[in-house]
Amino acid sequence: MSESGGTDGAAPPVSDGTWTEGPDGTWTDESEFTGWEEADGDSDLGDGADTVPVPTLAVVGRPNVGKSTLVNRIIGRREAVVQDTPGVTRDRVSYDALWRGRRFTVVDTGGWEPDAQGLQAEVAAQADRAMRISDAVMVVVDASVGATTTDEAIAKVLRRSKVPVILVANKVDDERAMADAAALWSLGLGEPYPVSALHGRGSGDVLDAVLDALPATPEQTFGPISGPRRVALLGKPNVGKSSLLNKLTGDTRSVVHHEAGTTTDPVDSLVEMDGQTWRFVDTAGLRRRVRTASGTEFFASLRTQAALEAAEVAVVLIDSAEPITEQDQRVITFVIESGRALVIAMNKADVVDADRRIEIEREMERDLARVTWASRINISATTGRGVLRLAPALRTALASWDRRIPTGRLNSWLGELLAATPPPVRGGKQPRVLFATQAANRPPTFVLFTTGFLEAGYRRFIERRLREDFDFTGSPIRVNVRVREKRDHRKR
Ligand code: GDP
Ligand code: GDP
Repeated sequence: MSESGGTDGAAPPVSDGTWTEGPDGTWTDESEFTGWEEADGDSDLGDGADTVPVPTLAVVGRPNVGKSTLVNRIIGRREAVVQDTPGVTRDRVSYDALWRGRRFTVVDTGGWEPDAQGLQAEVAAQADRAMRISDAVMVVVDASVGATTTDEAIAKVLRRSKVPVILVANKVDDERAMADAAALWSLGLGEPYPVSALHGRGSGDVLDAVLDALPATPEQTFGPISGPRRVALLGKPNVGKSSLLNKLTGDTRSVVHHEAGTTTDPVDSLVEMDGQTWRFVDTAGLRRRVRTASGTEFFASLRTQAALEAAEVAVVLIDSAEPITEQDQRVITFVIESGRALVIAMNKADVVDADRRIEIEREMERDLARVTWASRINISATTGRGVLRLAPALRTALASWDRRIPTGRLNSWLGELLAATPPPVRGGKQPRVLFATQAANRPPTFVLFTTGFLEAGYRRFIERRLREDFDFTGSPIRVNVRVREKRDHRKR
């Protein structure tokens, strides 16, 4: 049994253990934490998903252990339902949650009247009820306090549980508290998952465990998970978008159009490439070759944004016969901002000679240095040259975009990196990076928890090394830094 009591994925120590701040400091950049997939509203949840029973997770625990804070994390809601008064009574509430494209319902068993006498019995009854109404039970214990008699009463009930029980050791805000989490093995409920509901730490790992414990949860039917991968074909006017689409579809009979009600609705094209079906989104205008006399650029940028919205990966065509223009740059900027994967296709390769080829390299270096990570292919939409390279490039870009680095692996990698190249000292102080987590994929988004500001150069260094060592070819990646403010030293 591991000393830390953590899972493989639960942030192992990266710091040198000399953490000095009290447990109540706050992280800045809270808003940048994007690890919690929002499940507000039903628009993202597929048609028909409602006909499949959604599994239920009940959250139990004595008052004030952080259940509401954790539930807020799970459902990805910002508005706090946390009350600072212990034991405030609430009704049992259930929420829709979405994690890694899977839906489940979270039942927050709420608080109780602070009735010292009846608390144990009441909490045990609650645990009993939770087992019966749910497919899995998450029991939350305050690791900073340790197992109380009430916790033990709950555990006693839950040890008989027929549904899986996930033990959360909450308020593990820093490395120091890992040992507190390990102490909760004593409850006899298996491995305690160290979590800081307040800061988000470890909660991704716990949600992974929840998904494992719940019965086959319905996949989100609309969304990036299912169906053909969605491609946006972009580029300034006359770059060859419709030519390429025609080349790919060849014979129009092989193309399936998804005609929606009206002529203004976008129409996608399903295209077979390299043994795989791809959905080229919003291609109606391209196929019909609609050209607006005025405001072409404006409409082109509207189309670009709409297509990106619907797509997972963008193919940006650039006319290799002409210098790279501001319009090309603008399209690339849209893609970067959308966070979609990117393949750059240098079109009209058939008219490029050796001199022009050298110029292109120079222009790429000058104008597109910010997307050196993109996959790049040379094609000719009219002759078909190089077009077969498109599917492999798309697959590479999407694989990078989907990539998840397990927390444990990420932190051991980071530990080595920091040891070899520590962050530069600023104002006599060396910021320390305490741990890191990949908060999201699509695109891969990392959060570094630090004791101080990391300068841009060092952030870029980390990003470069992430790319080198984990290969994110074709995908943007995001690295957010959350600085723990220093206050109330040695509070405990
Ligand atoms: P509940 O009664 O179990 O629902 O607990 P709450 O979610 O209302 O949390 C009780 C108190 O613990 C609140 O003041 C929270 O801010 C605090 N809290 C919750 N999670 C954490 C955590 O991970 N670390 C720390 N330090 N405090 C937490
Ligand atoms: P769109 O506005 O981006 O859809 O561009 P089109 O597909 O309509 O192409 C604009 C012009 O470029 C047409 O005259 C095409 O024949 C030409 N074109 C497109 N692709 C290529 C190519 O690979 N090589 C050459 N030489 N011309 C091309």
